[in-house]
Amino acid sequence: MGVTKQFQSAGSDAFKALDNVSVRIKENEFFTLLGPSGCGKTTLLRLIAGFDFPTEGQIMLYGQDIAPLPPFKRPVNTVFQSYALFPHMTVAQNIGFGLEMQGKPKSEIDARVSQMLKLVRMEDLAKRKTSQISGGQQQRVALARALAPQPKVLLLDEPLSALDYKLRKDMQIELKRLQSETGITFIFVTHDQEEALTMSDRIAVMSKGHILQVGGPRDIYDRPSERFVANFIGETNFLEGEAKGVKDGVAQVKLASGSVISAGCPEGFKPSGKVTVVVRPEHADLKKEKKGATVTGTLSTIVYFGTDTHYHVKLDKDGGEFVVRHQNSRTGSMGFKQGDAVGIAFDDDAAQVLRD
Ligand code: ATP
Repeated sequence: MGVTKQFQSAGSDAFKALDNVSVRIKENEFFTLLGPSGCGKTTLLRLIAGFDFPTEGQIMLYGQDIAPLPPFKRPVNTVFQSYALFPHMTVAQNIGFGLEMQGKPKSEIDARVSQMLKLVRMEDLAKRKTSQISGGQQQRVALARALAPQPKVLLLDEPLSALDYKLRKDMQIELKRLQSETGITFIFVTHDQEEALTMSDRIAVMSKGHILQVGGPRDIYDRPSERFVANFIGETNFLEGEAKGVKDGVAQVKLASGSVISAGCPEGFKPSGKVTVVVRPEHADLKKEKKGATVTGTLSTIVYFGTDTHYHVKLDKDGGEFVVRHQNSRTGSMGFKQGDAVGIAFDDDAAQVLRD
């Protein structure tokens, strides 16, 4: 709540890595901090873990401010990007390490280690040294080790970034399974928007020390509230227009093409005057004629991607470009060619007004 983290380095001005950040994370959810490099994700995670302290603000856990507590006194554990396993120890010893440090009896440690080995499907490799297992297996051991003391919250700092594409995809599913099976709250940090969309219950999009939007993957993707969010997550089309009125969170917007469309608005926002509207490429349809279309233009480029085709249209009135993405079917292409005069149509609920 109201967390600010200011860094002071010699010879330069104080720098706010986090500026008055407030976010409420629910118990048992898979919550992701998403943003580009340097936006403050790791700083926020480190403050929750207790590796650093906020300059201002509180970090509340079940009604208690944990900001002054050292890391080992917090019911929180962290999985780092560089797993930080002990190479001379076996898989089982690594998993049991935290429990041993807590002075738990051997019988309890053995039982928990077996349970964790089963959870991450590593029973067969329990006696292998962690220097003799693959990257994906090391990742599982790091997860099991962090989960073994049964923290209330597990913090994961880009834990999949060292894995290759295929393994990363598998581990995304695995992490989601682990979270739902253990019921532990996961706070996951990534700069990869696809990873965030596929794994999270909710996402906080961060930029320059601020949280810009918090919502479910669908909210964030379909209803971006700011230009930064719309740009950072997926591809999108921007159309300029003028707000003519707002009712029940839906604005009437007159586009440069002359068409008046209905567009959703960010919560609590009442647009007026010049506005920007966003429409995702796959939420628009390409028409062979301009009549009845919302916007019109000329087909400038057609790019075939295997699963879908992207049609780039130079707009007649707006002057900008609009991309329509169409999923390919076995029956062949839609029969468009470069230079065709085309219309673009989209449903009212495909358009969203941006706050900025
Ligand atoms: P990445 O994805 O690259 O890890 P991030 O979003 O996690 O980025 P942070 O590591 O939180 O970013 O850093 C946020 C900003 O704070 C950056 O500009 C960084 O240079 C700065 N910063 C982080 N730690 C310190 C520090 N100890 N001293 C000074 N500046 C710092």
